Amino acid sequence: MSRLIVVSNRVTLPQKSGDAPAGGLAVALQAALEERGGIWMGWSGKSSGAKEPAPLSMQEHGNITYALTDLTKTDVEEYYHGFANRVLWPLCHYRMDLADYGRKEMAGYFRVNRFFAHRLAPLIQEDDVIWVHDYHLIPLAAELRQMGLKNKIGFFLHIPWPPADVLFTMPVHEEIMRGLSHYDLVGFQTDHDLDNFGGGLVREGIGQRLSEGKFSSYGRVFKGGHYAISIETEQFAAFAQKAASNVMVRKAKQSVEGRDMIIGVDRLDYSKGITQRLDAFERFITMNPGYQNKVTYLQITPKSRSEVPEYEQMQRTVAEQAGRVNGAIGTVDWVPVRYINQSIARPVLAGLYRLSRIGLVTPLRDGMNLVAKEYVAAQDPENPGVLVLSRFAGAARELSGALLVNPYDIEGTAHAIARGLTMSLEERKQRWERMMEHLKVYDINRWCDDFLKDLTTG
Ligand code: UDP
Repeated sequence: MSRLIVVSNRVTLPQKSGDAPAGGLAVALQAALEERGGIWMGWSGKSSGAKEPAPLSMQEHGNITYALTDLTKTDVEEYYHGFANRVLWPLCHYRMDLADYGRKEMAGYFRVNRFFAHRLAPLIQEDDVIWVHDYHLIPLAAELRQMGLKNKIGFFLHIPWPPADVLFTMPVHEEIMRGLSHYDLVGFQTDHDLDNFGGGLVREGIGQRLSEGKFSSYGRVFKGGHYAISIETEQFAAFAQKAASNVMVRKAKQSVEGRDMIIGVDRLDYSKGITQRLDAFERFITMNPGYQNKVTYLQITPKSRSEVPEYEQMQRTVAEQAGRVNGAIGTVDWVPVRYINQSIARPVLAGLYRLSRIGLVTPLRDGMNLVAKEYVAAQDPENPGVLVLSRFAGAARELSGALLVNPYDIEGTAHAIARGLTMSLEERKQRWERMMEHLKVYDINRWCDDFLKDLTTG
């Protein structure tokens, strides 16, 4: 079996005892690397003012070598905060209005990809299979090919891929499309993303969709597919069962005093629809005053990317809104919205999901949304809650037992909350069983196996 080389912007090092358990993706990639032997390369998260970062730091753990590179401060500014998080992230989430096209940042993005390639290439052996992850590293294969590498190289995009008219607003869309054509397999989360990709190639007259999942562009033929990322379903369900005895979960249960709990869990990000969700909750209460003092909405929102101005601004907006909603509909003995700005460990989250009668997952646009899958996996089979899910999350293509909503339609979401709270046990069970059966089969290991099978065969 060939060695596997995983490349991602950040690397998850093996857990030390006492660390919170790693997420499903990191565990699955580590398992695939352990089985085949290989290297996981990425940015260490450190930056310095030096002109040239220190040599790669190599750490061996079992069958896996972790190869970490530092970056310069300018690299981080231009490649990471600049192009990746202020151009590709908003654009791929259909937010053309937030994309900030600086020539310096675009150049920095391609430069850092070249730098990654120069650091990675000397470690590669002839029959190694390379798997590149996410939007930070789209041009990596082109750079490796430029250096003469003929290995199988696959790419998986963890975020959505936009339709042609959105993509074409990016001045360097051609370079990005050309970059993707240097892979042997380009993987997206859903069939919609794959269709958008094919549509972009055809519309611009730079490529074609061939039969059997193949594409041709820039003189290369390569495969494209969709592979829905997932979670470690059985293990997450076990976390949830165990979490009943966790102190934080017990305290949460006590403090809601028998009220129905609604839960939202999202990094603080404009793609997650948090402000629309707060509006929908407020509307639900004003439309259904009988629910006053009978329901508690817990919104867990760790801060993210605070260096990017849009995120810093959003921290203020959401906090103010949560306060405003509490002021408007709360009473002396009831705080309707509990807004928490800290990160909670996944095994504890599992317990909080299980306590909640509704999982409110309403992103405006999301590649997949693992919270939706975690909420389902965490439920008590005898008394499962209801998933209210945005039709614009990749997970909506799979989770057919959810109540699907359009998050821009505040009143529609408010109605779905009411429907979730009044749904019969029989219907809740039917819907949940359908989703859970699916997630047991299509878990994170299946995602990993399917991608690697398609990359290494044919
Ligand atoms: N998460 C967590 N602690 C928190 C909030 C979120 O561990 O306080 C985890 C959550 O369990 C999930 C991931 O972060 O596994 C979020 O993944 P998702 O696909 O929903 O969104 P992303 O943040 O990747 O856009």
